[in-house]
Amino acid sequence: MCLPVGEVLLKCKFQGDTSCSWCQKELESHLHCFFLCDWARRTWLQSPLNIYVHARQNWDMMDWLKTFIQWCEEDITQGEFHLSYAVFLLYEIWRMRNHVRFERMASSPETLCEQVNLKDNRLWAQWHRELINTVSESTHTRECLNVSNYSDCGLVFTDAAYNRYSNNYSAAAVYKSSDGDIQAMAYRRGRTTSANHAEMMAIEVGLLLAKKEGVRKLIIKGDCMAVLQGLKTKRLDQLDEDASATFSRISMLCNVFSYLDYIWINRSENVEAHEVAKWVQSSLAMGPYPDIILRSVKPICVL
Ligand SMILES: [Zn+2]
Repeated sequence: MCLPVGEVLLKCKFQGDTSCSWCQKELESHLHCFFLCDWARRTWLQSPLNIYVHARQNWDMMDWLKTFIQWCEEDITQGEFHLSYAVFLLYEIWRMRNHVRFERMASSPETLCEQVNLKDNRLWAQWHRELINTVSESTHTRECLNVSNYSDCGLVFTDAAYNRYSNNYSAAAVYKSSDGDIQAMAYRRGRTTSANHAEMMAIEVGLLLAKKEGVRKLIIKGDCMAVLQGLKTKRLDQLDEDASATFSRISMLCNVFSYLDYIWINRSENVEAHEVAKWVQSSLAMGPYPDIILRSVKPICVL
């Protein structure tokens, strides 16, 4: 890998600014530019990959990439997402670096992070849509072929809370065994632009939770008819960039399960997931636990 970063230019006896385009403090090496600069670290952490970049002594770019690929391979189904997404992210980081360097853009680091991730989300989702359109419909049809007995399915209840003024959302999932006992719970929170996207993220959290718990046959239950119906028929219209990336990740996660179905339930049947989502939203997951969490066997996790 040999992009004309400051360090490479310096070796070619380049006279001029070789400092990092983001922080202007350090010599711009590949590693610093893509991973170690505070700005780059923030970008990785804010991406859906959620990677915390540790500064490791004596590591070069190749060490980093090898570890990364290994991490992706450990988790094949997610790996497809992680790896492809990361490639797009590396590309976007480099593009933004050139913008900042040559067009002397003066935006805040936060804005740049956001822009890079937005662009990445869009490019990746577009690429993925084309990929699944060309590969086959195997994922989609498998769910229908495997008619299953509901009694041996894991049940995941999902719900979301969304504040349209602050744009804060919380997405919650409660996993129950087929006999109705709570096995585990998870949540995610952040900001988004629509209630339906928040509901979709609740379903993504539910799928991730079920996967983490080793569930093979799964029924997702929720009280948002539009989103459940959309996922079931693979038809969700008017998705913005963020939401269509989430939709793509959900489609990919479906591969993990040998059986998967989405079932709509009444709000009154979805009390637990609703309560968790409300708790996360109101107390930012820091206030006293609601009863529902205290009753659960396992601690609640963030997905
Ligand atoms: Zn820097």
